[in-house]
Amino acid sequence: RKFVYDFTEGNKDLKDLLGGKGANLAEMTNLGLPVPPGFTITTEACKEYLESGAEPAALRDEVSAHLDALEQQMGKRLGQADDPLLVSVRSGAKFSMPGMMDTVLNIGLSDASVNGLAAQADNERFAWDSYRRLVQMFGKTVMGVDGDLFEEALEAAKRAKGADSDLGLDAADLRQLVEDFKQIVVKETGRDFPQEPREQMDLAVRAVFDSWNTERAKLYRRQERIPGDLGTAVNVCSMVFGNLGPDSGTGVAFTRDPASGAQGTYGDYLQDAQGEDVVAGIRNTVPLADLEGIDKTSYDQLMAIMQTLETHYRDLCDIEFTIERGHLWMLQTRVGKRTAAAAFRIATQLVDQGLITEAEALQRVNGAQLSQLMFPRFDDTVAEGGEVRRIGWGIAASPGAAVGKAVFDSYTAVKWSRSGEQVILIRRETNPDDLNGMIAAEGILTSRGGKTSHAAVVARGMGKTCVCGAEELEVDTKRRRLTAPGGVVIEEGDLISIDGSTGKVYLGEVPVVPSPVVEYFEGRMHAGADEADGLVQAVHRVMAYADRVRRLRVRANADNAEDASRARRFGAQGIGLCRTEHMFLGERREMVERLVLADTDAEREEALGALLPLQKADFIELFEAMDGLPVTVRLLDPPLHEFLPDITELSVRVALAESRNDANENDLRLLQAVHKLHEQNPMLGLRGVRLGLVIPGLFAMQVRAIAEAAAHRKAAKCDPRAEIMIPLVGTVQELEIVREEADRVIAEVEAATGTRLRLAIGTMIELPRAALTAGQIAEAAEFFSFGTNDLTQTVWGFSRDDVEASFFTAYLEKGIFGVSPFETIDKDGVGSLVRSAAAAGRATRPDLKLGICGEHGGDPESVHFFHDVGLDYVSCSPFRIPVARLEAGRAAA
Ligand code: ADP
Ligand code: MG
Ligand code: MG
Repeated sequence: RKFVYDFTEGNKDLKDLLGGKGANLAEMTNLGLPVPPGFTITTEACKEYLESGAEPAALRDEVSAHLDALEQQMGKRLGQADDPLLVSVRSGAKFSMPGMMDTVLNIGLSDASVNGLAAQADNERFAWDSYRRLVQMFGKTVMGVDGDLFEEALEAAKRAKGADSDLGLDAADLRQLVEDFKQIVVKETGRDFPQEPREQMDLAVRAVFDSWNTERAKLYRRQERIPGDLGTAVNVCSMVFGNLGPDSGTGVAFTRDPASGAQGTYGDYLQDAQGEDVVAGIRNTVPLADLEGIDKTSYDQLMAIMQTLETHYRDLCDIEFTIERGHLWMLQTRVGKRTAAAAFRIATQLVDQGLITEAEALQRVNGAQLSQLMFPRFDDTVAEGGEVRRIGWGIAASPGAAVGKAVFDSYTAVKWSRSGEQVILIRRETNPDDLNGMIAAEGILTSRGGKTSHAAVVARGMGKTCVCGAEELEVDTKRRRLTAPGGVVIEEGDLISIDGSTGKVYLGEVPVVPSPVVEYFEGRMHAGADEADGLVQAVHRVMAYADRVRRLRVRANADNAEDASRARRFGAQGIGLCRTEHMFLGERREMVERLVLADTDAEREEALGALLPLQKADFIELFEAMDGLPVTVRLLDPPLHEFLPDITELSVRVALAESRNDANENDLRLLQAVHKLHEQNPMLGLRGVRLGLVIPGLFAMQVRAIAEAAAHRKAAKCDPRAEIMIPLVGTVQELEIVREEADRVIAEVEAATGTRLRLAIGTMIELPRAALTAGQIAEAAEFFSFGTNDLTQTVWGFSRDDVEASFFTAYLEKGIFGVSPFETIDKDGVGSLVRSAAAAGRATRPDLKLGICGEHGGDPESVHFFHDVGLDYVSCSPFRIPVARLEAGRAAA
């Protein structure tokens, strides 16, 4: 195995081995761009070091060989006293982990070579500035000295001199500072700052390896779901100097605006500075455009290089560069991060420029970005100031824009929201006890915890706005107040606004506007209406690419005409799940009570007879909204007690009445029925097809309502396409019995109305037994719809309502789940059942229609899975439809 690659040997596709930084340094080198020569130590070497605690035996010699070659090329040796070669030792993992790991500049400087460097550059100050930077960075990252000690010494030196920036220190001051820094190192570590150049380099390489496993790096990886065993590569890069005077400097740039996607000059430049000064904000940078006036030649060259990079990577790139005495050097590039809006704009811009195809454009965006664009947002035309000011900035944990009164406990959140107030629940961190408050609140704000904290996980699950880990905010739940930097105090009841897409926290009420993207999907805005901003236009075009290539159809879960119409505007190609239980609520509850209490056939028929016309009217509306498109109606699924009074309330009522001696007959019977229907485990009790089998006439009534509604629509010369779906089937016998009855009812309606209805009858596959016997079930089913919510519950053996708040956070933290199996389909378990049941069903009945109607139907990763399995459609809530369309397109592209 080869552990070291020269920059000339690698390329951009070797990120696994060389890390992102190393792979791209190699790519730029091979493109002929001005990159200071150097080499990369592989992630393999790092992994071996981390596993065994020692560098691989072959590494030292390989590094020596590459260092020799580098020294040959540069015509000087590392740390050579009269003319030292200096290098940087830079971390660089496969995925960028900003600020998580270490880099040391100016390796090779020592008490001896600092003079050589000064002589060569004819610049004393520069040499001592470089040396003090080395001792500072090396002391901190390699030798583990508290960085503040160096900062304090630097501040003290500036104060003594009356200098307001490091530029005010001269060579003598910096020489003294190096002395002070070295003293700090000895005092803190008991060791001298190492003078031997190769030892400096080896120690720095090891420190970079070690930085893979710092706590903050581990935490970041957990949050970003970066695997923990990738290791980092180490880049050894010959130094170029931006701190040689005003004709030198360092900067960062983007090939286009990462916030809007617009082309232009975006970046920052800092004269007479080295590396990290730009980001560290030590001095004020100037906009990149100013470089044109400072050094036109370098500026023009930089613009040309940025063009080359964009054409080569066919994407937005960000770069780091340094100018050494008028000479431009490229130090880093990568495909840059961007906002969701910019992602859509850039994708279509690149298509227009002929750089990428439409299929590639689909890979440049994703459903998560689209859903981010669909949340209502704060009106960014309202400037901060006046009533509104930003008081903090936490982790953007769950997108959305929420405004409400500050409350500091769950109880108050619930109480105030019941009385019609909008509240933001503020906690240091949340735990399962806060659940009610979280449900009641518009948004959740915590000062502790990251993207996988309880607050974040639960909020995302509920689709609720959440900002977490806003550490500068001090939450005092006892005194019900929050203190922000600058002493701003927020008391219970004060209005605050939180932005879950940016993590920003405001005092006051920031106005909220609907997302233009939703306005567009709703048909309230034209694709061309936002010339200036171009976002809607870009979304419109990307959606068209997706619709053109996708194979999966997208349906909606919708129970009423209003949802159905919205779903249709959002692009739904039918209804995949209409839950009929919602048609049994409200004032119709009473009819359900009558049905449950019925002692005789006549009473039962009367109760059903009352429900029939109501159900029929519901279906007529629904078929009208979805005319010409399939509508899958699920027969009654939930346990009956859900329609009856609460057992405790009713018991109390009856007991009170009895004590007054006026108990009413009906209540007594109802209480009896409620007792009878009471279940320990309703999820696994009398529900779904089981109801249809034990309550005579119930399913027949529902089928009749569907059939009569369809006949009604046909008579109106319309095109109803109803499909009847039987829930919770475990064996083909259940389905056969229900089917026989349904066929009989449909035939009756056909005969009575003189219409041919062609109603398909199918079933949900949501129990393991159904999935396992799918081949048999397909004999009696014209379609399957995978109910992945129940299937997940029954395959795992846990109930969603009970576990999400209790142990899921722990499971996520322990890494047992990467993500909740209710959010993204568990491919290995639940998914493999879906796959085999689909295959078995199709083996029995080749034209079996296959769909899915769980929450997973709108989850990006799950959509890709269902595409791979070969389903015909996914069905999801209306709001998720655009995301499902996009992801289905991405899966097929
Ligand atoms: P990060 O990954 O944190 O950006 P880098 O390894 O890119 O760390 O280095 C930190 C800073 O030092 C960057 O500004 C980079 O441009 C600069 N830098 C790194 N190597 C060199 C070098 N050989 N010459 C000059 N500047 C360098
Ligand atoms: Mg960098
Ligand atoms: Mg179900």
